[in-house]
Amino acid sequence: MKILALLHTQADGSLPKAAYETLTAATSLGQPFVVGVIGAGAAAAADAVAGCGAAEFLAVGDEAVSQPRYATDAAAAAALIQAAGPEIVLAPGTARFARCLPGVAHRVGAQVDTHIVALCGEGGAVHAQRWFYRQRILGSFSRAARPWMLLLDGGAQPAWQGASGAAHAKAVAVAFAAEDQRTAVTGIQAPAADAQTIRPDAALLFVAGAGWTKKQKDGQSHIGDAGALIQTFLRKTQASLGSSKSLVDIQSEGQETLSFMSHMNQVGQTGSTPRHPKGLATCCHGEEPHAVGWRFINERRAVNLDPNCGWAQGKADVVYVADAFEVMAKVNALLEAGGQ
Ligand SMILES: Cc1cc2nc3c(=O)[nH]c(=O)nc-3n(C[C@H](O)[C@H](O)[C@H](O)COP(=O)(O)OP(=O)(O)OC[C@H]3O[C@@H](n4cnc5c(N)ncnc54)[C@H](O)[C@@H]3O)c2cc1C
Repeated sequence: MKILALLHTQADGSLPKAAYETLTAATSLGQPFVVGVIGAGAAAAADAVAGCGAAEFLAVGDEAVSQPRYATDAAAAAALIQAAGPEIVLAPGTARFARCLPGVAHRVGAQVDTHIVALCGEGGAVHAQRWFYRQRILGSFSRAARPWMLLLDGGAQPAWQGASGAAHAKAVAVAFAAEDQRTAVTGIQAPAADAQTIRPDAALLFVAGAGWTKKQKDGQSHIGDAGALIQTFLRKTQASLGSSKSLVDIQSEGQETLSFMSHMNQVGQTGSTPRHPKGLATCCHGEEPHAVGWRFINERRAVNLDPNCGWAQGKADVVYVADAFEVMAKVNALLEAGGQ
């Protein structure tokens, strides 16, 4: 069984973490594999993973693929697959590949599956796992069709670590048509680094709920204080910020709320299902439609005034029945004292 680990570089020529995770998956199948790299500095990126045990390295590093673009990425990926002739193609499920690889599958006559979280190889067969029905059912499946392309979810495998060296990547020629290059990336608009609150690689998920905006024991709401406490904590810990639906909905209803929150932060049934080793919910009730988004949070804690909140019904490992304003002020003070 021949496997192709199909990777792409980032704008600076390095491989994203998801690419190293895909390499781990490729090596774990115990079969010969080829590494194919697309993008700026592709051959040098192959050198960075020269020690992974691949039988061969292929690269498409043309100027045409120095920026992510459906038409040129699809042409490059199809050329690499044709050059390698694999039965199984493993690729990171990054935005760049999620956009172009389903189209590539059509071009090369492959079947494609996305959001793969685990792989195992037995004999000539490969079995993949992915979640269905909003992470409620874990399915294990296989396909007889070849080539079979699998896009792997980030964070589900450890990143490959090993020696760099001389990979002697073979440049694969791709005939890029002029019309494939009509679309150009003219610039990137991104929030400032400290305004970017969603951090998939953070060790901690910090969830804020609607309680932060509610009237407190003095009969007043303290949204300004809430915002300052949360932002200070995030700055000191670099935790990722999640939200309940109620909190982000308040904003769209035009009420005063935490300005740095958006629906992108929402965790839950109609939000995201992030992966972090630990999570801390504050002023959030822990209702099932929210808590279902915590499926991949290994250790869960919550701060809530209500001893009967959802977290206390078996959804958290530890519930602190306390005022989150007081708790977070104390935590921030301890972080400050600890020099963070
Ligand atoms: C189809 C459907 C899909 C949904 N999808 C999602 C989803 O994806 N994500 C999601 O989050 N919700 C979702 N919901 C909504 C969900 O059911 C809850 O309504 C929502 O999660 C409640 O948000 P909350 O806990 O922040 O607010 P509330 O229910 O208002 O809870 C606020 C909490 O703050 C506590 N509190 C107040 N002040 C303090 C204080 N000083 N210190 C400590 N605690 C304090 C209160 O005790 C209370 O428990 C969905 C609902 C439906 C019907």
